[in-house]
Amino acid sequence: MSRAYWNEEIETISREALEVYQLKQLKEQLTESYTKSPYYKQSFDKANVKPEDLQSLEDLIKFPILTKHDVRERQDVAPIIGDLCVKGEEAVVFISSSSGSTGVPTASPFSKRDFDEFQDVESRLFWQAGMRPTDRYIHALNFSLFVGGPDVIGAQNLGALCIWAGTLPADRLLFIIQQYQPTVIWTTPSYAWYLGETAKQKGINPATDLAINKIIVAGEPGGSIPATREAIEDLWDAEVFDFYGISDIFGACAAACEAHDGLHMAEDHILVEVVDEKTGLPVKEGERGEMLLTTLRKEVRPMIRFRTGDIVTYTDEKCSCGRTLKRIKMVGRIDDMFIAGGVNVFPSDIEHVTRKFESLTGEYRVNVIEEQHITKFTVEVEKRLNDETDTKELKEKVAYEIKMQLGVKPKEIIILEEGTLPRATHKAKRLQDLRQKA
Ligand SMILES: [Zn+2]
Repeated sequence: MSRAYWNEEIETISREALEVYQLKQLKEQLTESYTKSPYYKQSFDKANVKPEDLQSLEDLIKFPILTKHDVRERQDVAPIIGDLCVKGEEAVVFISSSSGSTGVPTASPFSKRDFDEFQDVESRLFWQAGMRPTDRYIHALNFSLFVGGPDVIGAQNLGALCIWAGTLPADRLLFIIQQYQPTVIWTTPSYAWYLGETAKQKGINPATDLAINKIIVAGEPGGSIPATREAIEDLWDAEVFDFYGISDIFGACAAACEAHDGLHMAEDHILVEVVDEKTGLPVKEGERGEMLLTTLRKEVRPMIRFRTGDIVTYTDEKCSCGRTLKRIKMVGRIDDMFIAGGVNVFPSDIEHVTRKFESLTGEYRVNVIEEQHITKFTVEVEKRLNDETDTKELKEKVAYEIKMQLGVKPKEIIILEEGTLPRATHKAKRLQDLRQKA
């Protein structure tokens, strides 16, 4: 009989015991940072805090926040790994490099122990998603510089048969999937959808002709939006598991379990804070806030209170799967948020709605516009080819549902023909900001 957990002791630990462990680790990580990293010495001194000021986990709020900008800047000061590091390059065995979509790429360094622990966390999260040694796993993520590339080793260490596919064109990937009949795949939600639709066009039914029964997704909130998840699940006749990763820490830091009610964070390695993005004060369980992450065991580069730019909600309640580790729910990237009618709007809020309509393909795009200094938005959706619903009626229904979801009405719903919006092969671009930049 197969065991339920990869690491039962950690995954079902009581919150009290976990916090005792986290506090011990955090003290060590802060002391290392302060005594060995020029950056942290300087930033703690500037904020007038010392590692000894941390007596409880709540005291972490006294310590300065670390931004992506800081990481980039300190990399320039001390190339190539930056002076946030507490060990020199001789301790480093691996670096991943961020995509650089918002500036110069930053290197994320790992010691041998960091890397091995990273992979053990990946094995745990794969196990949690139901992967077993009998599975065939196809890793369809980018291997070039990307921190998600090596995650395949976690699947291999778990005992699964691993196929290192990387990012292949859909035709080629489908050919490989037909040939080897893997049972588990990892890709983005948009690509899972695109790949399934492409298969259908080629006369392959992903639900019956392919063996995939689990789809791991990450990189977009879709995997945790029930309507999106169900649409992908129906297309493939497979269960979708949402994962969360960040290049500065691990390829995956959190993952869904069979309950699909939030992603369990690897809290023995990563301390989670969820704060109001303006005041920096902690928000309550269930409220939206920006996630800050602090590493608890990183040997080369500790990350203390790193701003992820991800808006989440969290709960510490024990999950029905038996795990006690904190669960987060992704709302969206702070960069994709805009304010309309006094409401914070994320594309994922709109996705919740557009995926509910049978008449629509599920593809959508949000356009942010400005009229007389007032921010408004329009939503483009696609009507299915042979759908007979009246377009005017459909527009009104979609607008109404969005108003119910957000509390603010879109200026217009634009109904397009099926196949008009660009299909994503990696991360879907759902937001167009058409406002005049000052
Ligand atoms: Zn669970």
